[in-house]
Amino acid sequence: MHRRIMAPGALAAACLMLAIPASAASNSLGAPGIGDPYYPAYGNGGYDVSHYDLRLKYQPATDELEGTATLLAKTTQDLSRFNLDFLLDVSEVRVNGVKASFATSGEHELEVTPKSPLAKGTAVTVVVRYRGVPSSKKAYGFTSWHRTPDGGVGANEPEAAWWWFPSNDHPLDKATYDVSVLVPDGTQAISNGTLQSTSSRMGWTRYNWRSNKPQATYLATLAVGKFDVTTGTSESGIPVINAYSKDLGDRYGAARASIERTGEIADWLSEYFGPYPYNALGGYVPNTDTGYALETQTRPFYSPANFANGSNTSVVVHELAHQWYGDLVSVKDWKDIWINEGFARYAQWLWSEHEGEGTAQEIADYVYASRAAGDAFWKVRPGDPGPENQFHIAVYDRGALTLQALRNESGDDAFFAILKGWTQKYAYGNASVADFQRYAEEVSGKPLAALFDTWLFQPSKPAAPAAHSASIARSAKGSVQPKSWKKIAATNGVHDHGHEGGH
Ligand SMILES: [Zn+2]
Repeated sequence: MHRRIMAPGALAAACLMLAIPASAASNSLGAPGIGDPYYPAYGNGGYDVSHYDLRLKYQPATDELEGTATLLAKTTQDLSRFNLDFLLDVSEVRVNGVKASFATSGEHELEVTPKSPLAKGTAVTVVVRYRGVPSSKKAYGFTSWHRTPDGGVGANEPEAAWWWFPSNDHPLDKATYDVSVLVPDGTQAISNGTLQSTSSRMGWTRYNWRSNKPQATYLATLAVGKFDVTTGTSESGIPVINAYSKDLGDRYGAARASIERTGEIADWLSEYFGPYPYNALGGYVPNTDTGYALETQTRPFYSPANFANGSNTSVVVHELAHQWYGDLVSVKDWKDIWINEGFARYAQWLWSEHEGEGTAQEIADYVYASRAAGDAFWKVRPGDPGPENQFHIAVYDRGALTLQALRNESGDDAFFAILKGWTQKYAYGNASVADFQRYAEEVSGKPLAALFDTWLFQPSKPAAPAAHSASIARSAKGSVQPKSWKKIAATNGVHDHGHEGGH
């Protein structure tokens, strides 16, 4: 992921020193970060958003985005000032209908000072009017807004919102969304959830999307471009909307042959993870040159590169598995990334087993056997990899290997009960790696501290006795590459720099 300077942490510390008793609402500042140890400036303190209403207009020819964001929030402390995370140019902010003053600071902070201080526990409506060219805005030297020949796309992790709407940008603050986008006729706007309606007037078409279950800010997406849109319904009754750029060239067929199986794959995953948690499904492929895919809620983002060598249902399995592991149950802090990626990768292993291309055990054995003890792979601790290794391949492969070890230790019945029960226990909320360990111990009835420490937290390859007791690589089979390996590896890309690979 991005290499960045953690200077915003210093800003947070400075504000802490200014902290005064909460009763003094007239001088009570909301923190510029929500408290994430990896990304101290991400999210904000002092309020919780329940709904984003985004009314936007986008001009594909120039990449100009203008809009009005209305946030429904509640204060969690007295506030004389609070922050939003945002990069575009703001012309007006109103708090409960009254004009507020505002200023920018840090890499992506918008500081809002309401005319009157807000008391703790108050319902607040914040209206932000803005415009700008998202592709021209950078924070920490990068942009998450991808320009395409026919428009633009906002999709990235952990940060994408700054380029298209003001937010409390951290998974801890989930909200529902109405995203209404006006685009020139002949162009489509794709977002999360259900398409409530469209209307055309004077050469412009408005798309009204609704995501009606709690959604993390990084899982909100917007794509504008010329798409072929397909619709259908899964066997279990979930409406499916997919969108493919008309400019995918030779990759068009492979993309469609993969993503049109979304309903089938979501139904298959629900046997392991519980009922599909949303009222909409799909996927979209814009004409972008990025290499990664992302589990944007209800409607994952895929890159054309995912289909460069033919169809790849494994990447669809990965992103749809995140609808439970990542979207329904989200990280508490970004250090908990294993509860997303370890499980999405393990779902790919289960799919391989389902397709008769190698069992999860065989793939686990292969990962263990094919990585020598000196491989940097084993230095990464998937349970707390550090921001620089948040999307390292070890979080995925060593992360899934941990789940195979857990499966062998607890037995199939308990293991699959854990996979399914977890998504219900923390549905629409957040959880940590520690929460998962506790839950696995509760369901399996076994002490698992040593297992998790060995497989998730030690910066070294688990030794032969540990592998033996977890039934990993017990036979010579570990050296045989499973048939599915290349398809799964094709969803890796390069995890350890930039925004490549499959999130
Ligand atoms: Zn992923």
